[in-house]
Amino acid sequence: MTTAPESGFTQNPHNPHNPQQPAERHDTHPANTQPPGTLMVVSAHAADFVWRAGGAIALYASRGWRVRVLCLSFGERGESARLWKEGKTLEEIKAIRRAEAEKAAAILGAEIRFLDAGDYPLDVTPELRDALVQEFRANRPDIILTHTLQDPYNADHPRTTQLVLECRILAQAHGYPSPHPVIGAPQVFLFEPHQPEQCGFRVDHLLDITPVFEKKRQAMECMAAQEHLWTYYSDLARRRGLQAGRNTAQAHATGAGQAPAAGGTVYAEAYQRVYPTVGGEFV
Ligand SMILES: [Zn+2]
Repeated sequence: MTTAPESGFTQNPHNPHNPQQPAERHDTHPANTQPPGTLMVVSAHAADFVWRAGGAIALYASRGWRVRVLCLSFGERGESARLWKEGKTLEEIKAIRRAEAEKAAAILGAEIRFLDAGDYPLDVTPELRDALVQEFRANRPDIILTHTLQDPYNADHPRTTQLVLECRILAQAHGYPSPHPVIGAPQVFLFEPHQPEQCGFRVDHLLDITPVFEKKRQAMECMAAQEHLWTYYSDLARRRGLQAGRNTAQAHATGAGQAPAAGGTVYAEAYQRVYPTVGGEFV
C-alpha cells in the first residue's frame, strides 16, 4: 500500500516518504499473508478501547490490517460499579470484564492481550514498562491509539498515555535490552475521552466509521456492566459524523445540517495527534 486509505488516518506508514519505517514485519496474520499494517490500541481498562476506538479497530481490521489491543487492566475496581453493587468478588469481576472484552475484540476483528496490572490506581511498575516496550518491539505497530494526555476524572488514563509515549521512545533506543530490533516512528493518535473539554482534547482527525458502525454497536453491547454508555457513544459517533460531513465536500453537496447523501459520513470517531504528519504535500 503506498497511498493513505480513504477516510483513514493520514500519513500512511508505508508511504515511501517515511523512510524510518522498517521493511521487516512480525507476521502473525491469521491468513499467513502480510497484512498492510499493524494498528495497536493501548487501553487502560478493559472497555475503553470499545467506546473510544471500536470504529477504528473494525475499520482497519476490515482492510486486512492486524489490530492488537492491549488492556493494561480489566477496569475491575474503577469501571465496574454495577458488578460491585451486585456483590461480585474481585476475581469474579475480572473474569466477567475479560470475557466481555474478548467478545468485543472478536466482533471488531482484533486480537487482545490483558496485562492485569491493576486499576484505581494503575501503578506503572518496571515490569509493566518493559512489557509494553517488548510489545512495541515484537509487534512493530504502524499506528498506536491510546488515551489523552490529561483527564482530571481518571488518573489511570493519562498515566497510560505517558507510559505509551515513554515506551515508544524506549523501543526506539538501540541500547534498550530486547531480543527484537528497534522500531521506527509509529504515529500516535489519542482517542476521545468521556469529557473532552476538561481533558484539553482537540479534534485533529475525524475518522469515518460509517461502514463499520454496526460492528462497534455490537461490540459496545458486549459491555453489559456499562450499559448506560451504549447510547452515549452511539450519539457521540453520530454527532462526530455530522461534523465530519461539515468538514468535507459532503456539506457542500447536501447543505450543512442536512441528512448526508447516500454513501456519506454518518458516524465518526475523533482523534488528536501527538506528532506532526510528514510528507511532501499537505494532507
Ligand atoms: Zn478507562
